[in-house]
Amino acid sequence: MKILLATKSQSKIKEIRDILERPGLEVFPLDYLEGEPPEVIEDGKTFLANARKKALAIAEWSGMPALADDSGLIVDALGGEPGIRSSRYAGTDGDSAANNTLLLKRMEDVPDEKRTARFLCVICLAMPGGRTWETDGTVEGRITREKQGAGGFGYDPVFFYEPAGMTFGRMGPDEKNAVSHRARAITAMARRIPDIEENLENLS
Ligand code: IMP
Repeated sequence: MKILLATKSQSKIKEIRDILERPGLEVFPLDYLEGEPPEVIEDGKTFLANARKKALAIAEWSGMPALADDSGLIVDALGGEPGIRSSRYAGTDGDSAANNTLLLKRMEDVPDEKRTARFLCVICLAMPGGRTWETDGTVEGRITREKQGAGGFGYDPVFFYEPAGMTFGRMGPDEKNAVSHRARAITAMARRIPDIEENLENLS
C-alpha cells in the first residue's frame, strides 16, 4: 500500500515514516504528486472532524489512501482550552510565543495541583471513496508557571512531562518523539495496518 501524507511539515513526515513504513507500505509526502492539493479549512468542532476532513479531501484529490493528523493541547483548568484552537489561541495562527504567553496569563491563579493538561493527537487514514480509520494518542503533563526550554515547537516550553522531570521544550527531539501523543497515535495506526490491508483485499 502507498499512503500519501496530508502534511507539508518535514518533521511530521519523518516521524510518521519512521513509525509506519515497512516492507509493502510506503509513505509519501504531499509533493509526491504534481498539482496543487486542495486547501482544507480546519473548521471542524473536534480534532477527529478536522483530521477526517483533511484525510478525505486529500484521498479524493489524489486517488490514493491519505493520512492526516490533528492535534492540540487540552488544559483541564481552562475547560479544555486551547483545544482545537491551539495554533491560533492568541489570535494569529502559529504564533507560539503569543499563545504561550496568553496560556500562562490565564493560568496565573491556578494552583499547582490543578495545572494538569494533555496533548491529544487524532490520526485518520482515508481511502478514495470515503472509508476511514482513526486512532488517537495522548500524553499527560502539567502547565508550568513560566517558559522552560527553547526546543520543540508550540506549547513544548510550558508542558512539563513528569517522567522526564522537564518540559517538552527541554527534551531532545528523539526523547520527545518516543513518548509524544503523535507517536502514540501513529503507533496505534501502525498496529491496525494489517487489519486494514486485509479489509481492503476482501473488498476488492
Ligand atoms: P497540529 O494539528 O499538529 O498542526 O497542531 C496544532 C497546534 O497544537 C500546534 O500549532 C501547537 O500549538 C499545538 N501542538 C500540537 N502538537 C504539539 C506538540 O507536540 N508540542 C507543542 N505544541 C503542539
